[in-house]
Formats: sequence, structure tokens, C-alpha cells
Amino acid sequence: MENESSKPPLEPARLLRELVRTDAEVEQLRQELEVLRGCTEAGLRCVRASQAVFQALSSWRESSSQALAGRLIEAESAEQVARATAVTEQRVSELLDLYAECARPLQAALESQTSNLIAAEARRNALTKGLPGGLATRHEVLRTTTKYPYICQVISRRCKGCNMLLPTALAQTVARGQTDSCPSCRRILFVG
Ligand SMILES: [Zn+2]
Repeated sequence: MENESSKPPLEPARLLRELVRTDAEVEQLRQELEVLRGCTEAGLRCVRASQAVFQALSSWRESSSQALAGRLIEAESAEQVARATAVTEQRVSELLDLYAECARPLQAALESQTSNLIAAEARRNALTKGLPGGLATRHEVLRTTTKYPYICQVISRRCKGCNMLLPTALAQTVARGQTDSCPSCRRILFVG
């Protein structure tokens, strides 16, 4: 395994570009994971609903057999209840099989996407450590307080995060390759 500490530090502009790419990767994985979690939850809700149908059917059958015993319903009606119950049970059982079939690949995708996200976050955390000044802390704060992206390009003196026209001196500083943050949205600025 390669020793991380033996690597020469990235030069600032390259580090920022790398961090922008990794931030994007983390964000995409996070969104994909949210979709997968949504699918899993929808599947689980479906299973719970099927189980409720099973329960309702069982008590329906139970009460109809009690009613039959008490001669409250005709034998013909009891037969109809039994037929409807069998058909519904069959449908519910098919639904459960279908869910089990979908759940396996869904669970596998969920697990692999989670480990991809953990790996991408570790790469991102390693990169932020190389940021100059207090920018590593700034990046961390932005991740919890601001919507993605956390590092924005400056184009025509404007911050691409909030579109604010930057003060000339700040735009010049960033254009020289020095890192700073936007006075309005606090995102880290860079010239791509
Ligand atoms: Zn801004």
C-alpha cells in the first residue's frame, strides 16, 4: 500500500481542482444513495402494507368461519370469502416474492454505494488537510452550513456560488492564485 505521507504535497491550484472534483464526486454519491434509500424505504412500506393485507385476510377468514358456525352466513357466502381470500393471498405472496427479488440487488447497491461514499469522503478529507490557512476549517463549516458547491470559480469577477460581484482587490488576489473566500456566501474562491 502506498504511503500517503511520502507523497509530495499538491501545489495549491491543483489541490483546489482536485478538491472540486472530489467534492462533486461525494455530492453525486450522496444523492444516489438518497435515491437508493428512498427505493428501499418504498419497498419496505410495500411489504408492511402486504403484511397488513395478510392480517386483514386472516381475521376476515376467522370471523367468516365463526359466522358460519353461528349460521349467520350461508355456506355459499363462506365459499366466496374463501375464494377471495385465496386469490388475495396469492397476490400478496407474489408481491412479497417480487420484493425479495428486488431487495437483494438493492441492498447490494446500497452497501457498495455507502462504501464508495466513505472512500470518497476520506479522499476529500485528506485533500482538505492540504488547504492553506484556515480554509480546511472553512471547507468543513461550509459542508454543514452551505449547499454544495463549497468551492466556486470566479468568472468575470463574480462568485459563481452566489453571483456576487467581488471587490476588485479580492478578485485580483484570487486571480493571482491565492485562495480566499467570498464575502457574501463565504464559499472558497478560485480561478479555474
Ligand atoms: Zn459567493
